[in-house]
Amino acid sequence: MAELQIRTLDTRDNDFDIQLTKLLAWESVSDQAVAQSVSEIIAAVRSRGDAALVEYSRQFDGLDIDSAAALEIPFQRLQEALQRIPTDQRQALEAAAKRVRQYHEHQNQQSWSYTEADGTVLGQQITAMERVGLYVPGGKATYPSSVLMNAVPAKVAGVDELIMVSPTPGGFVNDMVLAAAAIAGVDRVFTIGGAQAVAALAFGTESVPKVDKIVGPGNIYVATAKRQVFGSVGLDMIAGPSEILVVCDGQTNPDWIAMDLFSQAEHDEDAQSILLSPDAAFLDAVKTSMARLLPGLSRADIVRQSLAERGALVLVKDMEEVVALINRIAPEHLELSVEEPEALLPNIRHAGAIFMGRHTPEALGDYCAGPNHVLPTSGTARFSSPLGVYDFQKRSSLIQCSVSGASELAKTASVLARGESLTAHAISAEYRIQEEGNE
Ligand code: NAD
Repeated sequence: MAELQIRTLDTRDNDFDIQLTKLLAWESVSDQAVAQSVSEIIAAVRSRGDAALVEYSRQFDGLDIDSAAALEIPFQRLQEALQRIPTDQRQALEAAAKRVRQYHEHQNQQSWSYTEADGTVLGQQITAMERVGLYVPGGKATYPSSVLMNAVPAKVAGVDELIMVSPTPGGFVNDMVLAAAAIAGVDRVFTIGGAQAVAALAFGTESVPKVDKIVGPGNIYVATAKRQVFGSVGLDMIAGPSEILVVCDGQTNPDWIAMDLFSQAEHDEDAQSILLSPDAAFLDAVKTSMARLLPGLSRADIVRQSLAERGALVLVKDMEEVVALINRIAPEHLELSVEEPEALLPNIRHAGAIFMGRHTPEALGDYCAGPNHVLPTSGTARFSSPLGVYDFQKRSSLIQCSVSGASELAKTASVLARGESLTAHAISAEYRIQEEGNE
């Protein structure tokens, strides 16, 4: 069996900066060959609709079908799956859904307004989207938890209709995925995936309804397709491979840290697991734990490859340096396995989700703690946030002028409009100006 390989870096090394930049680089989402084949798939779905979906599902997912009717799972099968799965799985899904719902209810935005002295009312009205598409990955693994993480916030936001897509390689439909869809309140489920599923949701086909927004993670074909349909449809984010950055002061059980790093690496070969610690002996201990624990994993080969290509154990000088590195990396998942994570928190500006303390492994957040597991990757936590209720809500501005309020505003608007040579704007505003004593 191949040995564990993972690079070790030291921030004191002269070329550390270059090495870190290389380690973090992730260019595949702009891969030309993938972009080309994705744009062909999107064009085919746009022009030939269901027929193209059937062909691609045969080609990429090995489905033995000849009509698009076979691509939708009848609604009653969701409930049947919920009845069929083992009781412990059903209870776990329900418990997770409950916690995810409770957490996301805190994110619900409220409409607001205020009234100015002259009676003019200004405000913001919050409305939910009508129909959204949920992409639940299904190529290499199935993710019932992703069903909950995508669908529950949409339901909390008040979305009318949830359309879920998830590929079923070889036609194998996972009951837990369907059961999760039943619990979360998904309305329709299609067994399509990849770029063709994104195109179907973005433009609609005879069978798949066009949606207002597509959310959810996926592989490079999904990410590239999302990039290409943006503008025709709303998007949550373009997700790259999953990542974790663990910070440890050297006082946590090295087996725990090894497994936390593995838990990310097992997602796929491109996933990234990095450990920062000021304790060199601890880094060695974690490496020893990794070598011992790795062979026992069900996805050991994926973990091995992910760690060899994108993993790192990094020796840092001190915790101050750690904070700078966290903000530079802007990780999707940040695990602070230290005595006082609260002390670091105020200085952390960029991270998708922050797991505080030795007893908060990312795995708990992935499934059932409550916060969403669809998070910004590849440094995009610098400017974006976890999937949430706000992703399914929109804001409309409200303006209701009183007579005197309109008159006052019109004077300003008129000057600005004439400055822009927009005469109709100026006159429209001026019509509202009240003569003195004529109010
Ligand atoms: P997927 O559903 O994203 O992709 C499978 C689809 O890819 C197939 O249906 C097929 O249509 C398409 N495809 C595969 N090979 C192709 C090719 N050569 N040409 C065109 N299309 C092709 O499933 P996956 O592959 O298992 O990837 C899931 C990804 O989602 C992983 O990277 C995983 O880490 C990530 N993920 C992220 C989260 C999160 O919350 N961030 C959660 C779960 C999974």
